[in-house]
Amino acid sequence: MWLNMHEISVCQSILAILEKRLEHNSEKKVKIIHLAIGELSGIELDALRFAFPIVMQHTRFETATLKITVIPALGFCENCNKSVKISSAFRCCSDCKKPISKLIQGDELLIKEVEL
Ligand SMILES: [Zn+2]
Repeated sequence: MWLNMHEISVCQSILAILEKRLEHNSEKKVKIIHLAIGELSGIELDALRFAFPIVMQHTRFETATLKITVIPALGFCENCNKSVKISSAFRCCSDCKKPISKLIQGDELLIKEVEL
């Protein structure tokens, strides 16, 4: 697989956030990094898993295990007045087929938990 620049920069942002978050815990080893990634975030999970150890090389996160939870994409259909599941290809309501303009969740990248 080719290194993907987008996922490398995502990993670099994660690294920066982790370093800041753990700056008062600097002597402990990081065991697990748990991420939650939205279906519509545009992040390729395979590319992210590939880029992660490369970006984390020579940092304290080098040996950490990466766990990823996918957050399903949910939109709000104003026509049906309810939240509906959507996919990247069809941002339309599965019931009334009208386009969804409001995304409730599914485009986020969260660092959910870091286990030391
Ligand atoms: Zn609808």
